[in-house]
Amino acid sequence: MSTFKEMGLKSEILEAILELGYEKPTPIQEIAIPKVLESKQDLIAFAQTGTGKTAAFSLPILNQIDTSKRGVKCIVLSPTRELGLQITADIESYSKNIPGFKVVAVYGGADIMGQIKKLERGCDIVVGTPGRTLDLVKRNKLDLETVEFLVLDEADEMLSMGFAEDLDAILGNTPKDKQTLLFSATMPPDMLKLSKKYMTDPFEISAGSKQETNTNVTHQYYKINSRDRYPALKRAVDIAPDIYGIIFCRTRAETKEVAERLAEDGYNTDALHGDLSQAQRDYVMNRFRNRQLQLLIATDVAARGLDVNELTHVINYKLPDEDAVYVHRSGRTGRANNEGYSISLLTAKEESRLRYLEKKIGRKFEKVPIPNGKDICQKQLFNLIDNIKETEIANSHIDSFLPQIYEMFEDMTKEEVLKKIVSAEFNRFLEYYRDAPDLNKTSDPRERERSRELENDRDDDRGGRRERPERGERRDRDRGERSERSERKEHTTASNMTRYFINQGKKDGFSPKLLMGMINSNLGGATPEIGQIEIMKMFSFFEMESGHTADLQRAAKDMEFNGREISIEESSPRPSGVGDRGSDRGDRGGSRDGGGYRGGERSGSREGGGYKGGDRSGSRDARPRESAPRSSQRPAGSHGAKRRTRR
Ligand code: AMP
Repeated sequence: MSTFKEMGLKSEILEAILELGYEKPTPIQEIAIPKVLESKQDLIAFAQTGTGKTAAFSLPILNQIDTSKRGVKCIVLSPTRELGLQITADIESYSKNIPGFKVVAVYGGADIMGQIKKLERGCDIVVGTPGRTLDLVKRNKLDLETVEFLVLDEADEMLSMGFAEDLDAILGNTPKDKQTLLFSATMPPDMLKLSKKYMTDPFEISAGSKQETNTNVTHQYYKINSRDRYPALKRAVDIAPDIYGIIFCRTRAETKEVAERLAEDGYNTDALHGDLSQAQRDYVMNRFRNRQLQLLIATDVAARGLDVNELTHVINYKLPDEDAVYVHRSGRTGRANNEGYSISLLTAKEESRLRYLEKKIGRKFEKVPIPNGKDICQKQLFNLIDNIKETEIANSHIDSFLPQIYEMFEDMTKEEVLKKIVSAEFNRFLEYYRDAPDLNKTSDPRERERSRELENDRDDDRGGRRERPERGERRDRDRGERSERSERKEHTTASNMTRYFINQGKKDGFSPKLLMGMINSNLGGATPEIGQIEIMKMFSFFEMESGHTADLQRAAKDMEFNGREISIEESSPRPSGVGDRGSDRGDRGGSRDGGGYRGGERSGSREGGGYKGGDRSGSRDARPRESAPRSSQRPAGSHGAKRRTRR
């Protein structure tokens, strides 16, 4: 393999790429750079984003540009403004040591006058989207007659976005003797036509064939029950404390919902979808690029223009309909010699698509177990310890406090101090995952039934069986429901409580009030604390202070309701995050504020002292985000705890 130096690149360029950390050429650069340096032959390169294609065309072109000549020497056409800006930024960094060199980006959706002014001041390379470029050509503000190099980047995307006519018109305005370099992931028939019309005897190279994913992407999947999709997503994120990734959803609504739920759960995230204005999209993309956001939730279309490297993960919350889209998604990670993971959350039905996908990408999917709470805690804990070890000590700042600090810890051993520091950072996380269910196991049939009902409830809400409220009203209501949901989904059965199953449900006319009455009048004066009550269609669950099971079951033997015998059994503790919308919102007595019912109170009403306040039943993270604990302490993960700046 030759080095960049051996390829004959100028020292100004070599210095710049060395500074960027490019040590050796990527496969496409290895072929394309010498080819473009040595000959004027047109070139077609099958390469996806992430293969180093921008440098593959920019470096040899920059090497040959004579800045003393007037006029535009190279035009690069790209499908989106984001990609165009990315290319411009790359060219700027490669050319920073070349005296007098200038590159200008032109794209729609921005003030054309500013772009015209820049062009009038003169430049060597123009990077443009087809529409705006053609507009400038037609206005005689962009003269392409001096062009020596024409680059069509992501040509297949440009054609699929309907730019064929614009490309035709632009190419018709360029000199015949220019060198044309076409980069594309695929070769659709339109492109073949275009290349035949405008290219002469092109040399073809392939850096990873057109439908291959990057070889350093590991394709994994979790087999999930559909109701566990969201908790499984959280686990995929929590098991990777340093994750920097995109979570792909299929629709705008799903994108918004997942992003909001993750944000409510304390993750450092935002959404990118078609309902955002260009300015909002730019804002989100910039925050993600700068790593102010650790996770981006996006639709395929909205993420199209986002070109971010060093992504550790792509998560497919749901698989896209088209296999090619999966290839695109997963190709966003594992770039430029980095390792990457593409993780898909698949139900049994979705799993059947894997065979076709595997054929398409020529790679096997690895089925991996959904991480359990213990693994996650271990991973997060060791990550925390690593971070503590790697933290630089700010001697000058803490020196003056040290004597006091030593004094305060005087009566503790080193081990005790360590334990306390780790616990202070980590207890909430441990607590969140303590008793978390194994999502790989098919749960208790009753739990399954319960989740199904909850899921149906949610579908009813979404599907509009209810009267649809006005827009603003809906937003407010949704917000309310979501925050309720986020509080409730944190709920797990407290350690001093036992959860029971009772064979009475909504259909029997059963209600929290009836349950309370039943307990109060049958436990012989005992007033156990009552926790969460979930009235389902056919049966219910409730939590009660432990230690009364025998009394309760004895009493139940003598009870009947609507002519049906009552049966009460101990059930497993309420799993966190599963079927998270909670139970019957309407009539549930509700321990929403973290309280529970006190059995001794007859009515169970709020005013009647029915609730016991406090922080018993979860809702740990339901406080306003501003006052939430440091994110590493949040049960949802340590996201944002370690903000990394990109360069
Ligand atoms: P591209 O395919 O042009 O989007 O490039 C993907 C990423 O790889 C960009 O961030 C480049 O900065 C980076 N890159 C390009 N060439 C190299 C190289 N030879 N070594 C390391 N990184 C590179």
